[in-house]
Amino acid sequence: MKLFGWGGKASKRAIAAAPAPASPAAAADAPSPPTPDQALALLREGNQAFLRGEGNLGHVRVEDLNPLQGGQHPIATVVACADSRTPPTILFNQGFGRLFSIRVAGNTVDRRGLSSIVYAVKHLACPLVVVMGHTGCGAVAAAEAIVDGTSPLDPSLEEMIVPIIPAVLDARRSGAADVAVRAVEENARRVAEKLKTADVAMAGAIAEGRLKVVAAVKQMQTGEVIFLDL
Ligand SMILES: [Zn+2]
Repeated sequence: MKLFGWGGKASKRAIAAAPAPASPAAAADAPSPPTPDQALALLREGNQAFLRGEGNLGHVRVEDLNPLQGGQHPIATVVACADSRTPPTILFNQGFGRLFSIRVAGNTVDRRGLSSIVYAVKHLACPLVVVMGHTGCGAVAAAEAIVDGTSPLDPSLEEMIVPIIPAVLDARRSGAADVAVRAVEENARRVAEKLKTADVAMAGAIAEGRLKVVAAVKQMQTGEVIFLDL
């Protein structure tokens, strides 16, 4: 477990002392990945450290790349919005080699995005996929405006907006007090649910307990990441 902790002094020493893998064989000796629940706990701990102002992100210097030359073993794949206020590495207090990130405005996933996620699961043994929306998302607001009829659909933005519309409709039907927030939540949930069955390798990893796919929402003002339905 300590091998995967990023913030503690012990883990810093372990990483600093670790020699850079010099060959594919050395890379194969890399530690086993954390379990999905361990990876989730590390992200929760990282976000709490960030919220307390104790985020260190100490592993962002050029020399911190040395132990990673033999390969990467990210603890989580994060599907996040491209919004400049939602960087997963900062919000989860993780440095180089920790998060495999796919970022698209509105945190939806197309076929190329799916392939990237499958690559992380199949070839990097990544145990956790987090689909992270955020309150105040402009892409979700644009989808709401289309549903409301208050704005025409900009053809240039169609690929970004249209996949979000079903989540907006779900939110409207839910009767939630804050439909905008509910739409963000539903969008993250829908993307996460689709990912669970979108690829046979991922479905198999989930069935074997090697992978979890979860949804989360970053609170725009506080920076807190709330994991949904957990
Ligand atoms: Zn957004």
